[in-house]
Amino acid sequence: MSGALPIAARPHPDELISSWLARIAACYEVSITDLRQELSPGSSGTKVRADVEWKGSEAKSAAQRLRVDQEAIMRLALKRRWPWLVAAWLPRTDGKGRARGELDLAWCHVCLAEGHATGGAYLDAEAALPLVFCRRHGTWRQDFCRRCQPHHEPRFSWRSRIEFTCTDCGVPLRTNHWSGPKPASECPSEDVPRALNLLFAFDGELRKALLGRSASLTGVGQVSARQFLAVLHGLTRALLAPDINRTSRINLFNSPLLSNMPDHDPQTWEEQPFHELSPAYRAHVSCAVIALLSDEPVSRLMSGVRPAYEWHSLEWLLASTPKWVQAMLIQNCKDWPAPLRVRVGLHHSRTGLDVADILAQFHVWLAEQEQRQRERVSLIG
Ligand SMILES: [Zn+2]
Ligand SMILES: [Zn+2]
Repeated sequence: MSGALPIAARPHPDELISSWLARIAACYEVSITDLRQELSPGSSGTKVRADVEWKGSEAKSAAQRLRVDQEAIMRLALKRRWPWLVAAWLPRTDGKGRARGELDLAWCHVCLAEGHATGGAYLDAEAALPLVFCRRHGTWRQDFCRRCQPHHEPRFSWRSRIEFTCTDCGVPLRTNHWSGPKPASECPSEDVPRALNLLFAFDGELRKALLGRSASLTGVGQVSARQFLAVLHGLTRALLAPDINRTSRINLFNSPLLSNMPDHDPQTWEEQPFHELSPAYRAHVSCAVIALLSDEPVSRLMSGVRPAYEWHSLEWLLASTPKWVQAMLIQNCKDWPAPLRVRVGLHHSRTGLDVADILAQFHVWLAEQEQRQRERVSLIG
């Protein structure tokens, strides 16, 4: 058994394990993975994401070598904090998802500043959830430095005290204030706070669903966590799906809150789940979902669609989206709450779509596309 490390920060009671380990790793200028390997040499447990559920043996050796109470650090694991947490909806930190590093990237700069004032900035458990806002401060969550266009993930670094900084330009991210996207200048002044309230409420209900609790779904009412997430999953997929022109339905939504969102321009047919989107894009998709499920006035507010044009309802989406997306929604909606299932069912019976056949054809077509792409690459590669 190797000895205790000479310097080891104490964990905060609401801190993410990855944040705590990253703060210690910063003192030794190593990565979280290296630190975990050093603490538990040869342990296969280091492959498991410590934030969610920390392996007892790994926590035990970390507790000994970092001189903290094992039970106290076990309590930091998200599954202990939130036993019904839907872990499949956490963004990936293994390099395969949006987050490029070992940390979740959805921080609140006020939370960081508060941490700094009491000893050093850290990431709290809430930063792991795929949300848009900080519930405590009502601020927009951030995922990159607004001062530069960073190419690297932010990191903890050692200055006079531990700071959470932009790797590219070095600015402490607690000082990197961002008050959210710029609302549309031409929209009536009362529209922005109304839309913001609706989005904030939706984000709060999503948080409940992520923690496995029942939640209120726009236009439907109280539903189970599973139903809430199934609807959000299906609609996100439909909104972001590319059509033959490589554009997506989400580009037709122009909420007053998010007036200058760049067009979603998918380069592949791979699914982009909600939890792998950046906070600003989560907000865009959430506004669109609220629009699809709400009555006409709210729908127009959240989608930015003028009265002269057809409002963006669920029926509009079903009628305007490619056939394979319609089939996907019909298949997906078996997990949706009854009122929405009925609406999708009506579209199904009106169109008589052969869901299994369409999806099978789509998958064959997709496999051919991928094969052709591989051949092209082999020509020039
Ligand atoms: Zn905050
Ligand atoms: Zn920067």
